[in-house]
Amino acid sequence: MTDLTSESSAELNSETPIMAFAQLQLAAPLARAVAEMGYETMTPIQAQAIPVVLQGRDVMGAAQTGTGKTAAFALPLLQRMLKHENASTSPARHPVRALVLLPTRELADQVAEQVKLYGKYTNLRSAVVFGGMDMKPQTLELKQGVEVLVATPGRLLDHIEAKNTVLNQVEYVVLDEADRMLDIGFLPDLQRILSYLPKQRTTLLFSATFSPEIKRLANSYLQDPVTIEVARSNATASTVEQHFYSVNDDDKRHALHQILRQRGMKQAFVFVNSKLGCARLARSLEREGLKTTALHGDKSQDERLKALEAFKKGEVDLLVCTDVAARGLDIKDVPAVFNFDIPFNAEDYVHRIGRTGRAGAAGLAVNFVSKSDARLVADIEKLIKTKIELEPIAFEEDLPDIRKQGHINDGRRMYQQEADDIRREEYPARVPRAPRNEFKRPPLSKDPFFDKPYEAPHLAPDAVPSWETPAARPGVRSISSNIKSKRKVAALFKAA
Ligand code: AMP
Repeated sequence: MTDLTSESSAELNSETPIMAFAQLQLAAPLARAVAEMGYETMTPIQAQAIPVVLQGRDVMGAAQTGTGKTAAFALPLLQRMLKHENASTSPARHPVRALVLLPTRELADQVAEQVKLYGKYTNLRSAVVFGGMDMKPQTLELKQGVEVLVATPGRLLDHIEAKNTVLNQVEYVVLDEADRMLDIGFLPDLQRILSYLPKQRTTLLFSATFSPEIKRLANSYLQDPVTIEVARSNATASTVEQHFYSVNDDDKRHALHQILRQRGMKQAFVFVNSKLGCARLARSLEREGLKTTALHGDKSQDERLKALEAFKKGEVDLLVCTDVAARGLDIKDVPAVFNFDIPFNAEDYVHRIGRTGRAGAAGLAVNFVSKSDARLVADIEKLIKTKIELEPIAFEEDLPDIRKQGHINDGRRMYQQEADDIRREEYPARVPRAPRNEFKRPPLSKDPFFDKPYEAPHLAPDAVPSWETPAARPGVRSISSNIKSKRKVAALFKAA
């Protein structure tokens, strides 16, 4: 179909001036909902995407969660669908017209909550379906008719197969967090779902990175898309001080204690690559006197939110987390991020350290590099296009010798378990696990898009954007209580 590099795709950049929502002339029910949410000015992605989507163009957007991306697609889609709005009780009058696909139940639930809020003064109906939940209530809702359907791919296919919904009247499709969907191995499901949709439609694709696979997906399914970039996702903010310390696995906890103490830092995120490593490290740090909580894929949503709340209130010093657990949670302005394990995917490095040093505030990213991490560090170097100097670490003698208190190194094979869990949740025993090679990372992007220097949005250097202040989000829960605890694997942890 369309070549993204073609002259025809209009390229926008992050020069868009700050715009007030009032300038958009949204329909009254939407404007009212936006005002009620406390939004006045648009975020950069909103200022760029909303007018384009209102024109009915396809969009290829580089934007992450936390940028206001949901409203950037939801508001113009709702506005365009208003012509179909009706108060009829007949399901036939409420066919699915907009489909939003996301990789995880947390993200699906979060997006659905927001869509509900933006559309609350319209007669447009919305629903969310994701795996790990009873199909029956979802089926009931689908059968009543919904205009906006937010879904994870596996569960949506289950509903399609059970004939609980038909997608032949879909006018808009959003592939949100598309890179994550491909990482998890959802490509075949996406292809199947897209094959059920009418060819004549608007397609919006959002991804943190434009890997060759994402571009292939876009080339196949988007028509003459407008490329929108808000903050170059492969760039790390210049306000983040980054250190790469050469440390043996056994010395990492010692190093963590020392750096926290030397810097006078109380709170930090500590990233590890596996659930098992996460639980073990959190327990060790707790024993060593730091108030620590673990955030990993086996924690229920409720537990994750509680941990986050405790961190925000200052009741917890360290949140030890895995990428999957942290993904999609609205966590910003963390004083420091420690990469206790160097991430296997260089893009995760950018995601991880993006949680510190936001909006002009100083941030610190500390990386513990062991001998076996050389290739991973080289990948990061390539991605962020910055030479990484490994620094030695000199240990102070007066710190407790915690090195003898047990090994933390957790083994790479555990990493894949998180992605597998998402798949299993989506396919309870229906589809065998994807072959391992589905998870292979694509080669790094050579897109000139990422060669441009990072330009911050138009904000005063120390300004906190309005969309990041708690007051700007009255009543918005990031994740609903719909989400039930995942299966526990107590046996796995007993041994730890
Ligand atoms: P998202 O990236 O869509 O997950 O949005 C991140 C957070 O920003 C959500 O809590 C939204 O409610 C909030 N938000 C989105 N747009 C705006 C805006 N223009 N002004 C203030 N807050 C916003």
